[in-house]
Amino acid sequence: MSRSFVWFAIATLFATPALAQQTREQSNSPHSLFSQSAAETLQREYGKSEISYLLLDAGSGAVLANHWENPEKPIPMGSLVKPFTALAYAEAQGFHFPTYTCKGKANGCWQDHPHGELDLTAAISVSCNAYFLRLAEGVPAERVASVANAFDLEAPEKDATSANLIGLGDVWKIAPIRMTRAYLELVRRKDTPGVAPILEGMRQSALHGTGAAIDRKLKHSAALVKTGTAPCTHGHWAPADGLVLAMVPAEKPEILLFIRIHSVTGAKAAETAGRMLRDMQE
Ligand SMILES: [Zn+2]
Repeated sequence: MSRSFVWFAIATLFATPALAQQTREQSNSPHSLFSQSAAETLQREYGKSEISYLLLDAGSGAVLANHWENPEKPIPMGSLVKPFTALAYAEAQGFHFPTYTCKGKANGCWQDHPHGELDLTAAISVSCNAYFLRLAEGVPAERVASVANAFDLEAPEKDATSANLIGLGDVWKIAPIRMTRAYLELVRRKDTPGVAPILEGMRQSALHGTGAAIDRKLKHSAALVKTGTAPCTHGHWAPADGLVLAMVPAEKPEILLFIRIHSVTGAKAAETAGRMLRDMQE
């Protein structure tokens, strides 16, 4: 076990009773590692900040720290839904993902500059909207709903558009705590068809995609990252909130950090997520 992850299994000090109860039921074994220092670090450095965060033990799903006002209240998730829509596509296509060309804003991407030709892994890594809009065109909302149910996520409505199915707009809302557990489930299913290219995309996101700020900050490990930029749900409105879900270490995640920052993009929020993970390592 690497020294840097000795801090991972922090007590459920900050878990709400309901969550703690739930996670005790889910967990078959006590935490293999124990340290209060990471949760204390988060609390000390970020406990008074406006950053919303959830820290989970990746093995048991236990909530180690909760600084999210209401993690059971569904919110728009932006691009964090893309892996689940991709799985819905793959189920009907023999688990084969296509290659598409992104021409930037011209075909609906968030980035002006074209991403060019992308396979699914590259599209996850840079969170290309042009790729996913085209992918989602052939996916009925019902099929995405069935994948959402399998991962215990709130499902999109029957009349959700392709844009909604890739996380644009605010009609498909998911509870943050459910989203964290769905990503842990994704890792658990790493050997099932269609999942490996998604996880590889998350690894590449941390290396050189929208989550690159995280690996740049981490000293001893690499991460699996998905970023999202979603409509703001705070009282004081902003054009968007940045979301970052990171699991470390990439090879076999031990913790999951999910954060939301008011009025920034997901890629920008990744800088903060990287700093938080680094602070916990130290
Ligand atoms: Zn693109």
